[in-house]
Amino acid sequence: MSYLNIDAQALNTYDAIVVGSGISGGWAAKELTGKGLRTLVLERGRDVRHITDYPTTNMQPWEFEHRGQLTSAVRDANPIISKCYAFYEGTEQFFVKDAEHPYVQEKPFDWIRGYQVGGKSLMWARQTQRWSDFDFQGPARDGFAVDWPIRYADLAPWYSYVEKFAGISGNKDGLATLPDGEFLPPHEWNCVESHFQKQISSRYKDRHVIMGRAAHITQPKQVHYDQGRAQCQHRTICERGCPFGGYFSSNSSTIPWAAKTGKMTLRPNSVVHSIIYDEKKGRATGVRVVDTNTKQMTEYYARVIFLNAAALNSNLVLLNSTSNRFPNGLGNDSGVLGKYVAFHNYRAGVSGEYDGNLDSTTDGRRPNSPYIPRFRNVEKQEMSFLRGYAAGFSAGRSSQTNRDGLGADLKNNLLNPTLGGWHVGSHMMGETIPKESNYVALDSSLKDPFGIPQLKINIAYDDNDEKMIKDYQEQLSEMFTAAGFTNIKVRDDKRNPGLDIHEMGGARMGKDPKTSILNKWNQVHACKNVFVTDGACMTSTSTQNPSLTYMAMSARSADYAVKAIKRGEV
Ligand SMILES: Cc1cc2nc3c(=O)[nH]c(=O)nc-3n(C[C@H](O)[C@H](O)[C@H](O)COP(=O)(O)OP(=O)(O)OC[C@H]3O[C@@H](n4cnc5c(N)ncnc54)[C@H](O)[C@@H]3O)c2cc1C
Ligand code: SF4
Repeated sequence: MSYLNIDAQALNTYDAIVVGSGISGGWAAKELTGKGLRTLVLERGRDVRHITDYPTTNMQPWEFEHRGQLTSAVRDANPIISKCYAFYEGTEQFFVKDAEHPYVQEKPFDWIRGYQVGGKSLMWARQTQRWSDFDFQGPARDGFAVDWPIRYADLAPWYSYVEKFAGISGNKDGLATLPDGEFLPPHEWNCVESHFQKQISSRYKDRHVIMGRAAHITQPKQVHYDQGRAQCQHRTICERGCPFGGYFSSNSSTIPWAAKTGKMTLRPNSVVHSIIYDEKKGRATGVRVVDTNTKQMTEYYARVIFLNAAALNSNLVLLNSTSNRFPNGLGNDSGVLGKYVAFHNYRAGVSGEYDGNLDSTTDGRRPNSPYIPRFRNVEKQEMSFLRGYAAGFSAGRSSQTNRDGLGADLKNNLLNPTLGGWHVGSHMMGETIPKESNYVALDSSLKDPFGIPQLKINIAYDDNDEKMIKDYQEQLSEMFTAAGFTNIKVRDDKRNPGLDIHEMGGARMGKDPKTSILNKWNQVHACKNVFVTDGACMTSTSTQNPSLTYMAMSARSADYAVKAIKRGEV
């Protein structure tokens, strides 16, 4: 019998295990397989194949039973997920249903998740800005959170590496707050956006309006054709899955690339319960997995483990990985695991109207919009709040069609819509401060359908966020006024934390194992063959969208892990 067990163990043994197949896990899988490691990718959700599993991608509005809208039955059954702007009849299949994946809200937190092969890379909005040293220096400057163990220079080559493969469009703007990347041609401006851009650059030295940097192939290179991807067609229904591979997703890019190496085994419907720590060996040896169909638990083994289950789920897995050596969660000697979670604040917006440029309009669609990089507290601390905010901006003109009349009259009316004035809008993207009191933990009694403790989330805004919201509203109103916009309105939708879908931290990086979980290579300080390269690793959140940074960190860390294996260190 023992002979049979050894065989079973050998069958379940790989060089590397990657937990999660979303944006960061896809990159870990691509890099580890590309560097020769037999890699098992474990994904809790179902398989989603590029093109064949995008059932709504070619549907017209009238082909949907409810014209694309959610029914009240779906809304009532999913009060959390239906708050997400990208959840509608065409995308329901890519979001978790509230009742199926319970968690405990000690404070209100809208946890937006996509559990399937590709994770949230299928539905994301594809904004991809690099972080700068101002972001990596934030905690060292104001003392909130620990100093990052890396700086921009550590990531810069890896940003370039992932940008070239993923395909990022943008303009080289030469801004210190937002380093330039390896860009494909940028998307176009409309005339009112250009007007605003010129007005702001002529009035403010430190404020800029630039075209958003986005993971869209505006002009394919050979590396994109090699992935089977093509130029973005500007359909702007990306979150249904793009059959052209026009935007970056794990499904269209990294996962099939990893599969082509012949080194990847993808196992969907596999919820990782915990990481197995072997006390005699002093290392992690594998993971315990619950099959979502059979509810059977199986163990898989590997030399290195990459945890990429998305920020809060990676915290959950680490917290649930207990042993005599780590009674409070794997690598949690410091006691900070699950703490110092931070997020982005998208609560506020400013809108207005413009009665100039009425002789111009826009035509066609654009899967991107302009962006205003952070301008507060950049060179020094100058405001009564810490850190800063970036903002999205866009302008558009609506038209109305008169459907009255018959015959030639009707035809004439339909062919000559009347154009309204220009509308302008902006939303904030604020950095929240990592605090010990913002934490996640395991509930001591409640379990999920797979027998795993439910995650308890205790995360809230603070006074710093309120001050930042006020400043954003004042400053954007001032900038809109300067540009000649009228009827300016500010809003604060008071949304719960979480809805901005950029939660980060809990297993933060740091120089000192006494105050952090991961070292500068995203390696668990106290368990060197476990790497965490998703949002759980983030020490602070900056104002930029985070996913490009997860990609760069995953590629960098995988490179390090393979070299460390060769050196016999892990
Ligand atoms: C509507 C929307 C808009 C967004 N817009 C942007 C944007 O413009 N720019 C940006 O940077 N980011 C954006 N994001 C956020 C972005 O999608 C995430 O930052 C990114 O996907 C995180 O990558 P990840 O690998 O950590 O997690 P995910 O992509 O979520 O992947 C995690 C995977 O792990 C799996 N998993 C979880 N737990 C387990 C387990 N125990 N065992 C096995 N598998 C597990 C999940 O099923 C999932 O497939 C947006 C997200 C949404 C939903
Ligand atoms: S806008 Fe581009 S990426 Fe989005 S669905 Fe259309 S072609 Fe695909």
